[in-house]
Amino acid sequence: MRKILPTPPSIMNDELEKIIESKGGLFVLDSEHTINTIQIFETINSIFDRLILEAEQELYKDKPRKISYGIIANTNFNAFAYASSQEEEKPFDFVGINIGTIFTLLDIFGRILSHPDNLTNVGNSSLEKAERTYISYLSTDVMKTQSMSCIPNCHIRNSYSTNLMITALKFLFYHEITHLRNGHLEFIKEELNYSYYQEAMDTGRKRLDPVIHQALEMDADSGAILKVLNESFKLMNLSPRDGVDLNILAVFNYSYLDIRISTKTVVFSTYILFRLFDFIEWNYFNQDKETHPQPPIRMFWLSCTIYEIFRIRPEYNYNADTFISDATKIMLEAEITLGKIKNEEPDTRGIQSVVSTNLHLEYLNEVKKAWKDIRPQLENYKRGGNLAD
Ligand SMILES: [Zn+2]
Repeated sequence: MRKILPTPPSIMNDELEKIIESKGGLFVLDSEHTINTIQIFETINSIFDRLILEAEQELYKDKPRKISYGIIANTNFNAFAYASSQEEEKPFDFVGINIGTIFTLLDIFGRILSHPDNLTNVGNSSLEKAERTYISYLSTDVMKTQSMSCIPNCHIRNSYSTNLMITALKFLFYHEITHLRNGHLEFIKEELNYSYYQEAMDTGRKRLDPVIHQALEMDADSGAILKVLNESFKLMNLSPRDGVDLNILAVFNYSYLDIRISTKTVVFSTYILFRLFDFIEWNYFNQDKETHPQPPIRMFWLSCTIYEIFRIRPEYNYNADTFISDATKIMLEAEITLGKIKNEEPDTRGIQSVVSTNLHLEYLNEVKKAWKDIRPQLENYKRGGNLAD
């Protein structure tokens, strides 16, 4: 009998079962999918299993509990985290990722690499045809809106795009793990009496003060970027062994050749992930209506976190100021690649709305102040490790 993909959750309770049912149930790959899709799901399963094992062993030291995950049969671009109560016989944490998230990410990175003008240094871009890639807007429900997914003709560019998709997915998965690990779920339960934390919120739900909500999001983003960067840096030092598929070797070289390229791989995929949420120019005077920091500012704040890593760790040999200027270039390049598949000029309004003034730093201080206020509460709930100052 064929193995069931993706793997069903290893732990479950009645409450979680009801939550999953309300969102569409668990997703199972049926027989119509291609070998390529099956391989992608096997890869995703093995990465999630590994990330979970590492988190349980290395991070959940103060309050050990099991972590499990599931792919939800819902076409929207969304993810959620759930924590069982501590009173449960075997307390556990859970990450749910919508199937729509996986296919939307596959589609966007496939489309970007299918355009001959995008990332021309990767593989053989002259094999690509621009007309195949055109879309009128960035959809977050591609399973409903796009009838055909777009796969690059050049097999190296195809593998490279899958790797970018996996990088973005790892970021999202670890973002959810950080919500759980740092006690955000118990905080939400105490404040709002919700048993799970969903990224894109259903309308009509009671909400936290947006500045506090954004402080939690910033914390989850920081945990995720540190992990994904670390993984990327480890791949940099991998030496090719005999028998390694040349295609895989090429993708490694394009993605992790040195510190700048490894960092770019992470920043580029993460920015595209953020950008899939509705694109809103950042505005100091309306930011407090949003649950998440708006996409451009989210990336700028993450860049500040990465800047600090390079500043205090000279052994990485990446000048922190050079990184900041590279980060802006990467965001601009990402906008250019998105412009190409929309067959229009790049939309730099979001980036401009942040870099044109220093108001984002002022707002960052407000969010940091909210973080300081809630930090003592989170200290009681965190599973282990140190919370950010
Ligand atoms: Zn979040």
